[in-house]
Amino acid sequence: MGEPPRHYWLPTPDEDRFVRHAFRGRRWESQSCDTTVCGKRVAMAKPSEMDWCTAPTCRDCNGILRDEQD
Ligand SMILES: [Zn+2]
Repeated sequence: MGEPPRHYWLPTPDEDRFVRHAFRGRRWESQSCDTTVCGKRVAMAKPSEMDWCTAPTCRDCNGILRDEQD
């Protein structure tokens, strides 16, 4: 308890659409690709407002992070 979050969320291209995955770290440092919490290697780019609004949250990332909190 009281620990700051060690992950952040970012919409990233996943197949033919954007999905909001979680990543380890405090924030995106403008790296061009990284591995998601759910283990996918994805390309990263500055998301548009639209991407934030429309990208669904990755269920795998969400589930892993929730398990870690228990
Ligand atoms: Zn994910």
